[in-house]
Amino acid sequence: MVAPTAAPAPPRPIRVLPPLVAAQIAAGEVVERPASAVKELIENAIDARASRITIDLDQGGIELIRVADDGHGIAADGLALAVTPHATSKIDGAADLERISTLGFRGEALASISAVSRVSLRSRTSTDDTAHLIEAEGASISPPRPEPGPVGTLISVRNLFFNTPARRKFLRTSATELGHCTDAVTDLALSHPHIGFALRADGRTVLEVPPDQDPGERALALLGPEMESQYLRVSADRFDSPGHAGAVTLWGLIGRPALARPTTKAQHLFINGRAIRDRTIQHALKEAFRGLIEPSRHPAAVLMIEMDPSAVDVNVHPTKAEVRFRDSGLVHSVVHRAVQEALRAADLTPSIHWGGNASSDSSFGAEPKPGAMPLPSPAADPQRFVDYFRRLASPGGGKFDYGSVRAAVDAAQAAPASTGDAPHTADPSQAAPTSPLPVPLPAPRVLQVHNSFLVTQDDQGVLIIDQHALHERAMFEALRDRLARGELESQRLLMPAVVTVPPQRLEALQRVENLFARLGIAAEPMGPSSIGVHAFPTFLFDRGVDAGRFVADVLERAEAEKWGDSPDAAGDEAVLHEVLDMMACKAAVRAGDSLAPAELDALLALREHVERSSNCPHGRPTSIRLSIHELNKRFGRTLCAS
Ligand code: ADP
Ligand code: MG
Repeated sequence: MVAPTAAPAPPRPIRVLPPLVAAQIAAGEVVERPASAVKELIENAIDARASRITIDLDQGGIELIRVADDGHGIAADGLALAVTPHATSKIDGAADLERISTLGFRGEALASISAVSRVSLRSRTSTDDTAHLIEAEGASISPPRPEPGPVGTLISVRNLFFNTPARRKFLRTSATELGHCTDAVTDLALSHPHIGFALRADGRTVLEVPPDQDPGERALALLGPEMESQYLRVSADRFDSPGHAGAVTLWGLIGRPALARPTTKAQHLFINGRAIRDRTIQHALKEAFRGLIEPSRHPAAVLMIEMDPSAVDVNVHPTKAEVRFRDSGLVHSVVHRAVQEALRAADLTPSIHWGGNASSDSSFGAEPKPGAMPLPSPAADPQRFVDYFRRLASPGGGKFDYGSVRAAVDAAQAAPASTGDAPHTADPSQAAPTSPLPVPLPAPRVLQVHNSFLVTQDDQGVLIIDQHALHERAMFEALRDRLARGELESQRLLMPAVVTVPPQRLEALQRVENLFARLGIAAEPMGPSSIGVHAFPTFLFDRGVDAGRFVADVLERAEAEKWGDSPDAAGDEAVLHEVLDMMACKAAVRAGDSLAPAELDALLALREHVERSSNCPHGRPTSIRLSIHELNKRFGRTLCAS
């Protein structure tokens, strides 16, 4: 039975809210927690051209936030306006929104903060004899009164959210709030190295950096000087190409793969000095690190991007934490390219350190690879050997076919400049200094340990290499290369390889239709729960990979990970990467495979010639270095001269 409905109540009248309530509502967007107030106050000091900014916090800023600066100050008659909504000295009209070069411009921060706290504002300009002070609480603002004080501004914010208990309830412990405040100060200090910052919490100094630092010094001062070896420099000067509005320049530091984190928290991104969160840049960074870090992790980075203010809209988010680029594709490609180049130029082999913070690694600055291992190539014709080993890396090139290595070695030895030394015993350091090009095969000596790891040396120490991971990376790069050149051969099987799968798996075939076509795999349902594979990539076939099993594995993953649902090209790329990696993994030598000496040499050679050889396609390292410095330390050789 339906209850008789009562007549609806008459509508409540529409009213314009009192200004304080309106300001408190607006404050909800701008001031989420103490850290947001800290950020706004520091930004005001930066806009006032301060050279030193001091921040004091009590209880993580919940009880008190005090920010002092030596900027240009506010005249006595401007003090009340400063805390009035929509009052700003930074823009005059809508046209200025097109080109914002100050951090603030909305004229909302001080009004919002004073709507939800007790504010006192003291300021003096360079032409005033004395400072003036006003106090604001809720809707009331006291008239300015003279007060002694230096040129600049001192603003105190007490009892945040005292009149909005619902908000106050959402604050966390003072330690958590202090953490957020410290993050905000760190970001502003990173992007303004010419300004000195001091942050004290409950009387204790949390962070202090002097004025007039350069961006690199500032970043290391904040990240910790011991991090120097863990970061690489990136820069891009002018990437303006025809058709693009304005130039984009970039400077920054990127963390070595080991610094990658499960969240993007270690990414400090700035556009024109403004800290932002931005998916385009996060994506570009992650893409550039693809294969060097695990897919679920995010690289650590400090990136300062500068561009024409008219090419970026900063007025899209109440706290200005997000921006909109006029050409986000350009920003993506600048970041991607610069980061990729820095990674390519660096030696990314991680070093082993036992405790302590010893760091012998001096790759800060993305210098080119320091002295790569001697090529297993005769000095007389290095290119031939490089090419030779490249071929070995390529699918179908034979799994380190000993015979062909030997033939190449012999051919090299037969060359006129050769001395005819035995190839695997030759030691380049023993070569007679008088002969100009005598070294027949300066093979680095290598030891296979437990049929899984290779141990060798380079000019920095001892290298330990995971044979499967390295070969997998090499196979992966070669496969990708072949695919890009359209040279991934496939062959028809005389008899289809048949595999039984759960019936629902058959549907996954559609998800991989295009992918299989690209890779030269032809697979069709054969009955309700089996699949027949009719064509398969030649090199997988040559490696004895079971075609049916491989297709079943791919389909299982396609189903579990819902391949093909993502409409964008980035999703397709990620899937392709995954399948190429599955192929590389199946084709590579495994842990436990015993390798002949020539195979070991060939594998080592790959390390030098394959891109991103420091990590397998999943992002795990292929090699680890134990530096001479570390060994000397461990054996106490710093104490004993010889
Ligand atoms: P906005 O920064 O968006 O202009 P705010 O509410 O943060 O808005 O500040 C209002 C105005 O008060 C600013 O435009 C500026 O003129 C003045 N002001 C605020 N803080 C300072 C400061 N530390 N030094 C000098 N002027 C300031
Ligand atoms: Mg402001």
